[in-house]
Amino acid sequence: MSQYRTSIDPDRLSPDSRLECSICWWVYDPQDGDEAGNIPRGTPFTALSDDWRCPQCDALRHQFLVIADDR
Ligand SMILES: [Zn+2]
Repeated sequence: MSQYRTSIDPDRLSPDSRLECSICWWVYDPQDGDEAGNIPRGTPFTALSDDWRCPQCDALRHQFLVIADDR
């Protein structure tokens, strides 16, 4: 059993999935990583540590929503 709820379903996340902060709409793009958080380019969202926060508003990881790429 998982200890906490998450809106992110790992099965739906691919290594190049982009995710959007549901608070401030900052977008995590694996191609860019997160300079402020010392995340190198090419890091999938699923590889971020559990204490990683939105660099803009400090939102927790589970407050990010997957951006659907099926346009
Ligand atoms: Zn945010």
